[in-house]
This record gives sequence, C-alpha cells and structure tokens, in this order.
Amino acid sequence: MEISKRLLAKATKFQTPYYVIKGNLAGHTVMVTSGVHGKEIASIRAAKKLLRLLKKGELRIDKGTLILVPVVNRRAYKLRIRGVPDLNRTFPGKRKGKARHPLSAALFRLAEQEQPSWYVDLHEANGLSKINPKRLGQTLIANRKSKAIPAVKRTVKQMNRSISRKSRQFTVRLGSLPGSGRNAAHRLLKAKAVTVETCWSLPMKTRVGYQMEILHNLLAEADLLQRGAVSRVKRKR
Ligand SMILES: [Zn+2]
Repeated sequence: MEISKRLLAKATKFQTPYYVIKGNLAGHTVMVTSGVHGKEIASIRAAKKLLRLLKKGELRIDKGTLILVPVVNRRAYKLRIRGVPDLNRTFPGKRKGKARHPLSAALFRLAEQEQPSWYVDLHEANGLSKINPKRLGQTLIANRKSKAIPAVKRTVKQMNRSISRKSRQFTVRLGSLPGSGRNAAHRLLKAKAVTVETCWSLPMKTRVGYQMEILHNLLAEADLLQRGAVSRVKRKR
C-alpha cells in the first residue's frame, strides 16, 4: 500500500491536501470527500481518523485506490461555518456545464481525472430521519436509479443491526440535489455516488463512530477493504 499527499486547488486561497492511497492490486477507485460544509465536524474527524488508521497500518487497502479529501473547504472549517456560497450547490449539473466555484471546480476536475467507480460525500444534518422523515440526519442518500442503491441498503441494514435505539437508526433516501457533488458524480461520471449524513445533535464520539462504520461498509462494498477489517476496528457508541 502506498500513500501520497497532494494538493487540491494548489497555490490558491482554497488549497487543501488530499491523499491517494493505492493498494498493491488493481481494483476500484473510491473517492471520499468530507468538509464540503465546514461545520459538519464528525464527518471531517472521521475522514481524518481513516487517514490516521491507514498511515499507522491499522487499516490496509490491498486492492484498488482510495482518493481521500478530508477537508474540502478549509476556510469554512476554520470558521466552523457551512460556507458561503454553499459549495454543495456549485458543482456542474450538465455535461460541459461549469462548476460555479473554484473549489468545486478543482474537486470535480480531480474526480473527472480519476473516474472513481464510487463517490462518497460525508456530511452532517439536523434531526433524526427515523422520527421525522423530512429530516436528513441519520440518512444515506443516493440518486434514483443509482447503481449504489443495493449497497446503500445493505449498509443501512448492517448499521441498524447494531443501533439499539430505534430513533438513531439510519434510513435510505433517494433523490436528486442539483449542484451537489453527488449529483455531478452520479450524472456526469456515472459513479456510485452516496451522501452520508449523521445527526449533529448526537454525541461527537457516536457520530464519528457511525461515519467510520459506514465508510468501512462502503469501502468493503467497493472491495477496497475486507469485511473483516470492519469488525477489527473498535466500535464505540
Ligand atoms: Zn453538509
């Protein structure tokens, strides 16, 4: 396994590091982004934790490539704000369409270059979807007809098996969000694109734990991690 650090939007005020983690064997490419919104802290912590585990060799990718962007919008993260404009409304919507922000443009260019078969965007949101289906907290979202749907359903099922409090269980949401990274990856790159949303009123440790476990599940679905790796990393909740 080989980890290399690179820079996105290099030499601009939006510059942010990203990591290419290559297994020794050929396989799928998975792109994981976090911090598109700067105040969704647990998703950023989970991405950083994943990187730490990989660096320490506590997790290994044998097959395929992971492209990890732990903090897309560093300026927003520093201020703990969502970000202005909302970056997740600025990705290109059409073929030949342009991103409406330098950061989403750089991120989408990277995705175009790497042609990931999976695109996983980590977020946090209000509320608990099990209690109020209008809320996005504790959901996994994919576009309608997405090839990711079976894996998303399996992941939610797997997650809920170990979440004893019904109110905290995850639900699957299908829909389209124009201008989002997921939409662009789904429509323009034909990737299996998934948005992960934990509820930000839950304890931080719990949210980071959920994010990690979902990542493990999806990385296993893409064959980057072995299923066993999921259970070897301690789960806290
Ligand atoms: Zn968000």
